[in-house]
Amino acid sequence: MTAMRIGILALQGAFAEHAAMLERLGAAHFEIRQQRDLEQEFDGLILPGGESTVMSKLLRELGLFVPLRARIAAGLPVLGTCAGLILLAKEVDGGTPCFGTMEIRVRRNAYGRQLGSFFTHGALRGVGTVPMTFIRAPQIESVSGGAEALAEVNGAIVAARQGNQLVTAFHPELDGDLRVHSLFLAAAEQYAAVSA
Ligand code: GLN
Repeated sequence: MTAMRIGILALQGAFAEHAAMLERLGAAHFEIRQQRDLEQEFDGLILPGGESTVMSKLLRELGLFVPLRARIAAGLPVLGTCAGLILLAKEVDGGTPCFGTMEIRVRRNAYGRQLGSFFTHGALRGVGTVPMTFIRAPQIESVSGGAEALAEVNGAIVAARQGNQLVTAFHPELDGDLRVHSLFLAAAEQYAAVSA
């Protein structure tokens, strides 16, 4: 197997939960907190849930925005969950885009601040029925160009992919189901093999 490492953006939010999932899957990982951390090699990036406005601001202040955006635009596999999804969206309803590398339009706090937290099961294309925990979640209002919807809940798109970018409005790191992370790791493994 190719040596593969995953960087987890660890400025704020639910990064530790993602690390625990990678641990269970036996994937090497490290936290990205500052520019120096980017000197290490990595074949995949996780953008966790949290507060997208705060992460966006910190990414710029810490000088991480430009190098990470370049890596993502060049095809680095990325898993963006909840706030991480918002960071990748090209259009943010009522907000400012961050990386803007994914042709999706999202609405922050789409379920309202109080009602935004709920649990359900839903079909994720290519994976099957998965548990879905939503916490003040965004919705994907539309996908265009190279982006495709992978899951819908109550008529709203809650997961999508575009090339190596995979996003969920829900939190796959919270329910103990490893399949979303496995899907992401498969892309990272392929990426590591090609760039080795
Ligand atoms: N509401 C948050 C935002 O807009 C996302 C919530 C989450 O990541 N759990 O950034």
